[in-house]
Amino acid sequence: MKYTVIDRGDPLSRELAERFHQLAGSRGLTPSEESPEIVVSIGGDGTLLEAFHQYVDRIASVSFVGIHTGHLGFFADWQKDELEELVELMASETPNIVRYPLAEIEVETASGVTRYTAVNEATIKGVDGTVVSQININDEIFEMFRGDGIVISTPPGSTAYNKSVGGAIVHPHIEALQIAEIASINNRVYRTLGSSVLLPKHHHCDIISKKEQRLTLTIDHLYFLINDLRSVRCRVSNDKISFARYRPFPFWNRVREAFLGDYEQ
Ligand code: NAP
Ligand code: MN
Repeated sequence: MKYTVIDRGDPLSRELAERFHQLAGSRGLTPSEESPEIVVSIGGDGTLLEAFHQYVDRIASVSFVGIHTGHLGFFADWQKDELEELVELMASETPNIVRYPLAEIEVETASGVTRYTAVNEATIKGVDGTVVSQININDEIFEMFRGDGIVISTPPGSTAYNKSVGGAIVHPHIEALQIAEIASINNRVYRTLGSSVLLPKHHHCDIISKKEQRLTLTIDHLYFLINDLRSVRCRVSNDKISFARYRPFPFWNRVREAFLGDYEQ
């Protein structure tokens, strides 16, 4: 079995990566940066986002495993003192593969169209003031948005930025895309829906820039400053991200542990 490791770069994550390679070597696993079957991310959820974007072109043939070196993550379920157990399972067991939906994001500027795949979300935010953009759903005008920005998230990303702006948490077995507003302006002149919406698979939305404006576009942890945005088209991707599960890691347990803590009986 071919694997690779991507670590956050801090001393603890690096040390764990070295230890992982030693253990994996002694159990007959083969390191391969070019064509791994399993990508082990050591750090936090952000490290998994980096690992994903590094292997996005081979996404159909890799599965991810996350080891966290800080707090329990949404993507990283293994703890730093469980490396032996994990390597042993990787060498001897066939994991359960869990697949989560992603978002396809097509960004059109004056210089052309660039396509991205997001694990968590795409965001569009203003640099010098209010963002003005028209939102179309399935090629029909839905609303004119004025405000700080828009978050378009995947189900696995629904617990990240989307949650901070009041979006719903969506179980990743639901193939959908969520559009959430960041501080929309609502008064007698300007009107937006005000609540977030979920689009099903095969629907798409376009965010069309309606003035000359400097915007920041983020795709997960990636950040771009854009002066000439025309539109951003978003839909549920045909690709999915695969996680190799050597033990169960139920989504709702992660939500409870991350946001609610221990429940006292
Ligand atoms: P970061 O500033 O470290 O990320 C912010 C927090 O989001 C971290 O605690 C991170 O966990 C956590 N996170 C990432 N993906 C998550 C998920 N799917 N569910 C729940 N929590 C998640 O930056 P980063 O590590 O490069 O991550 C980029 C992500 O940060 C973006 O995709 C965006 O979702 C999120 N973000 C959130 C806000 C906000 O809530 N206001 C603002 C900017 C960015 P780790 O510490 O384990 O990495
Ligand atoms: Mn982070």
